[in-house]
Amino acid sequence: MTEVPPEITEYLNSPHTLPEWVHFYSAFPTVTAAVRAASKGGTVEVFTSENTAYVQRVILIEGKPVIETVIYPTVQARDALVAAFLNHGTKAAETLILDALPHLLPAGTDLTGYECITEPGEGLAPRYGFRRRISADGFHTWRDYDELHPIGDLYDVLSWHSSGSTIAEGAAAVAILRAHGLPAVACQACGESLTNRHPAWPGTWVNLTEEYGPRCDSFEDPYSGLHQLDEAGIGGPHIPAPADLEPLP
Ligand SMILES: [Zn+2]
Repeated sequence: MTEVPPEITEYLNSPHTLPEWVHFYSAFPTVTAAVRAASKGGTVEVFTSENTAYVQRVILIEGKPVIETVIYPTVQARDALVAAFLNHGTKAAETLILDALPHLLPAGTDLTGYECITEPGEGLAPRYGFRRRISADGFHTWRDYDELHPIGDLYDVLSWHSSGSTIAEGAAAVAILRAHGLPAVACQACGESLTNRHPAWPGTWVNLTEEYGPRCDSFEDPYSGLHQLDEAGIGGPHIPAPADLEPLP
């Protein structure tokens, strides 16, 4: 039986601890316990959207235990990447996006120890993230690990309540992606990233996050002064910014 460090006991007993962490730290109260489970072929992984979307897992690489963290771009930044990928239409976009990804971050963001990666999947586009791998050797408690390897700058930049500059989203992300050779397109009204190559909406400009992708929130309703409900537009089409439809520089 693994001894549970007092800070983990306290964390598990806090009403503010999210269920995924309760699950993870109950199963693996120490790095030692996590490494033991991974070594026996178990899955040691937690996905959380606390502050930002990220995964922490313990895996074996060439038989050695490694603590892997993958932090994902924010929802709107992910949209910009996926929409650009679809607009490009070939697998070559994957490399272009990997090259462009660090440039979406505010200048000076410390990426020490992180690399930009894609993760395999069957989705519309690859999953992009920032990955860090640290050898689990020498760590017993999670506190030891967290203190020596704080998640740092990147976490704050990708956090939904970041105190400073954040990753570029919408039209700002589109401009950066275009400068890196990707045919990214923003809506001139709402600024969201658009694609007209979504398999469910071929030929229609859609944004990926909205439930009703082709509906632009910033649509100006020409009937808004008439007060006739049956004629009121509740949204209109996204309008691609003309400059984004020009050939890439
Ligand atoms: Zn729009």
